[in-house]
Amino acid sequence: MLALQNIVLVSSLFLSAVAHPVHQLRELTIVGRDQSARVVRSETTAAAAAAGLEVLSSGNDAFRKNLADNDPQLLQKLATDGQAPPFMFLGCSDSRVSEASVFNAKPGTLFTQRNIANQYQRNDINAQSVLSYAVSELGVNHVIVMGHYGCGGVGAAIASAPTANVDAANGAVQNWIEPIREILHSSNRTELVELRTKNTGLAVVEEPDIKDPGFRALVEENVKASVRRIAADSVITNHFALLQQGGSTAAERRASEDKPPQDIFIHGFVYDIETGIVQDLGVSVGPAGKAIPSIPFASVAKAAVESAAAHDSETPKPAITVLELPVIQARCGTLCKAKRSLVSLWY
Ligand SMILES: [Zn+2]
Repeated sequence: MLALQNIVLVSSLFLSAVAHPVHQLRELTIVGRDQSARVVRSETTAAAAAAGLEVLSSGNDAFRKNLADNDPQLLQKLATDGQAPPFMFLGCSDSRVSEASVFNAKPGTLFTQRNIANQYQRNDINAQSVLSYAVSELGVNHVIVMGHYGCGGVGAAIASAPTANVDAANGAVQNWIEPIREILHSSNRTELVELRTKNTGLAVVEEPDIKDPGFRALVEENVKASVRRIAADSVITNHFALLQQGGSTAAERRASEDKPPQDIFIHGFVYDIETGIVQDLGVSVGPAGKAIPSIPFASVAKAAVESAAAHDSETPKPAITVLELPVIQARCGTLCKAKRSLVSLWY
């Protein structure tokens, strides 16, 4: 327990430093490599801090003016009636991936959890409490996990881990991204097998270029892993069980203010920080017997297949393995019974 508390404390300190960079008293350096987490380094001065806050102040002025011009009652309505967001969003802490900006979303739309590399871990009581509240109290309809190409956390998981002089902040990051390293080392996805092969024997593996196929594939697989973990979490499995039972007990109805439990669908998206485009990874999960709603984003799988086909015409290489539906159903059991294809979930 003490060790867990220490980890939480160290993580909190680090995330606090990231969230409030103008108050940093020292630089955050990544031992062994200069770019692994792409932390912006700058000298902290009173003038720089004042300039930064001025940017935020003017931004808040613009935000309030926009609302006053376009939806003047919104904030008061949300304050009076409370929030009822249709979406829970799990994304990366990266400053380039602000969910409200990416989706041009108004206040009250997205109930949000963000962390380095958009991970959902079952021992993360922060993320689990957000999911639980979103599902049980707010009645969200969709849980969206969105990763992004060029993710520093994923890139750091590809690069060599620091081997010496790891301070508390770096240690917290390295511990946090360990599950992504595990995906890299265990996945049979073609791009990741090729990435492992390419890096085998290198004394130091640098963080790859944003367009590296293995880097992009690991970003996608990391999103899929979070979708799988959320779908397997007791918060979701219990909710799906309630739906099958009709959600008729007093306790069940209390959780949703005397309304039947909502259908909930979990989706995996990926965001391109170079173009601003959001794509669907085709790994949506929903309650048994319920069709996945139409997803109005282009499919990454389709784009990846087309890209692979074009690449194959130039340089022959193994095709991406796509499992047949009966094989998938045999592997994933009840979750697949009434779902659309979960092909991309299983490699
Ligand atoms: Zn990221």
